[in-house]
Amino acid sequence: MTGGAPGGMAQWVDLHAHSTASDGTLSPAAMVGAAHRAGLTALALTDHDSIDGIAEAESAGRALGVEIITGVELSAYEGSREIHILGLHLSDLAELERHLTALRSSRRTRAERIVERLASLGAGVSLDRVLEIAGPGAIGRPHIAQALVEGGHVKDRREAFDRFLGAGRPAFFAKQRLTIAEAVRIIHQAGGLAILAHPGPHGTRDRVHQFILAGGDGIEVRHPGHSAEDTVRLKALVDHYRLVPSGGSDCHGSMEGPRALGGMQVPFDWLQQQATRVRERAEKGMVA
Ligand code: AMP
Ligand code: FE
Ligand code: FE
Ligand code: ZN
Repeated sequence: MTGGAPGGMAQWVDLHAHSTASDGTLSPAAMVGAAHRAGLTALALTDHDSIDGIAEAESAGRALGVEIITGVELSAYEGSREIHILGLHLSDLAELERHLTALRSSRRTRAERIVERLASLGAGVSLDRVLEIAGPGAIGRPHIAQALVEGGHVKDRREAFDRFLGAGRPAFFAKQRLTIAEAVRIIHQAGGLAILAHPGPHGTRDRVHQFILAGGDGIEVRHPGHSAEDTVRLKALVDHYRLVPSGGSDCHGSMEGPRALGGMQVPFDWLQQQATRVRERAEKGMVA
């Protein structure tokens, strides 16, 4: 595969990454620095329920010559199943910001419930410590997992999810329920593209149909959670339904391992296809 850059040199982008604006461990500027060192030409910052890292990322990106794509990762529900949807190329931010503020406040309420439940399970952590770990960013289960590790209740994050925080575990609570169509509408109203995040082995034709019917624009084809077969199958669905392809590392700050920034080698051409789709939507005056 080539990045399609003139002169034959591959150009890679990364269209899925988290910073301290949600549950990543590096600041937005540090993520852009890492993107630059990894040789990426563009980086989408896609924090959970937050675009608060974008301004800092853009200013670092200007200094280093890395294009920053304004993005976000939303959680939607279909029954009890949680689906992640990336909003990429967001441009109309005021109304979006109102939605995100509400979603973050519901994350705060949920964290309080989780902390209460943990206490009743004999794995008490302090809410203040959880808030401190989360900092100014959107609070997520990874922050609570860290507090559980610090408190000596579990040996690592994985055990925190396996015993307490994961779906179906005793301290699990779902987030505020957006439907798939609602999440897509919020992204479209903000001028962005809605991309089905890491559909993996569940990215069946039916689920993709459902996402298209809800107005979805594209699928995350390349993701560290996907097998080689997933990637081939998802790319075929993208081609068949004329969706836009996307991909990224889902890096949360570690520059080693499967989620290292840039590790997915997403071609620049995919970003160009997305930019074209954004323009087409705008020309057609499509808002939903
Ligand atoms: P939340 O947004 O609060 O629902 O937390 C979801 C985040 O927790 C994901 O984006 C991952 O960063 C992390 N996560 C989810 N499941 C696990 C797991 N089993 N082990 C470690 N981290 C996880
Ligand atoms: Fe996360
Ligand atoms: Fe996700
Ligand atoms: Zn993510």
